[in-house]
Amino acid sequence: MRTMFSFCALASLVGVAVAVPVPEHFSERAKELLRDGIELNTPEEVGQVKHRLNVVYFVGNDREPLADYERRISELLLYVQQFYGKEMVRNGFGRRSLALPMLPNGNVEITVVRGSAPMAEYTYGGAAAGRALREINEFFARHPERKRSQHTFVIMPTQLNEEYSQDNPGGVPFFGLGRDCFALDYLEFDVKHVGQDTPYGHLLKKWLGGFAHELGHGLNLPHNKGIPADNAALGTALMGAGNYTFSMEPTYMTPASCAILDVCEVFPSVDHPDNFYAKPEVLLDKVEGSVVYRHGGFDVEIRMPLEQVADLKQVNFYMQDPPYVVNRDYDAVPFRGTISKKDNQMVVTCSMRAEDLADLKEGERQISAAIMLRNGFRYRWDVEFKMDALQDGQPVPFSKESLRVSSY
Ligand code: ZN
Repeated sequence: MRTMFSFCALASLVGVAVAVPVPEHFSERAKELLRDGIELNTPEEVGQVKHRLNVVYFVGNDREPLADYERRISELLLYVQQFYGKEMVRNGFGRRSLALPMLPNGNVEITVVRGSAPMAEYTYGGAAAGRALREINEFFARHPERKRSQHTFVIMPTQLNEEYSQDNPGGVPFFGLGRDCFALDYLEFDVKHVGQDTPYGHLLKKWLGGFAHELGHGLNLPHNKGIPADNAALGTALMGAGNYTFSMEPTYMTPASCAILDVCEVFPSVDHPDNFYAKPEVLLDKVEGSVVYRHGGFDVEIRMPLEQVADLKQVNFYMQDPPYVVNRDYDAVPFRGTISKKDNQMVVTCSMRAEDLADLKEGERQISAAIMLRNGFRYRWDVEFKMDALQDGQPVPFSKESLRVSSY
């Protein structure tokens, strides 16, 4: 380990970007997969890292974490961290990724929290997830040094019963819940199966894809599918159906997802605010929006009072067809807004081309704007309209419009 850290120190002294060294005790497959890893979140580029993802391994009072979990989960997390980091680079946000709590030996610091009930009671569903989160928060209240941010990634071992086993894992919470998210562990959940056309390779694709996708939800990401040109060139968006492709087939992050990660508490940056997600003193109460239908696409513009959004950092726009509810939004097509100041207004524009929207159904549509401040506080502005009577070059009449504070 000494070699690893003196290498890092040397690299930072001379300011040279090097591939990240992999700990000696990692598996050969992990070393192979991380060989082209890039150095992330370096002090030169992001300053001091203030917040890190809380990684919790949660077990019932009758179970232990599964064998070799520290190495297996560490390797998988570093693999996923590299994916996020490389996609941030590709989308122009620098060599930044989720900051993980690290141990001196190069493993991720995984906090084991034991629930008050047997494992069988922590089933898939909101109630059991809520109970586990309450117990995790009680743990953090007793061990505040282990709580390094407002984002917690919870991993539970598979249920073991007539339905679930180490070779057919499941039965525990597996979803995002606000800034927390849940994934699962089983004995062969191991990077050695990455990309293998074997039963364990396919099993890993399913659960590692879910691991990376649910983690995205826990890092504030909503679903989105990507524009057809990106899907053709880059594969499947992680926050679309990428949970079914990650680690086996081409998978990518959309520019809009990376814009959200740009203002995520555990993605370090120079000038990283301390008061992440804190409500501003003055709330945004007015968005004036206009949408013009042009050549089968849309020119979108929103205007907001400058003093209400002086800290504006990112705006994403999404277009989707109904229904407009969570988990029916995998097809939302994402766009990034361009921000400028004009008079006393913040003006954000975006152009949605007809070919970008080709996968959506005709009929009704919704445009949503995710309006994000520098500390990640977020508003959502939605308009709905009917496509039937739209005329080229004309403003689009809204059938519904709303503005609210949003966690997504
Ligand atoms: Zn999802």
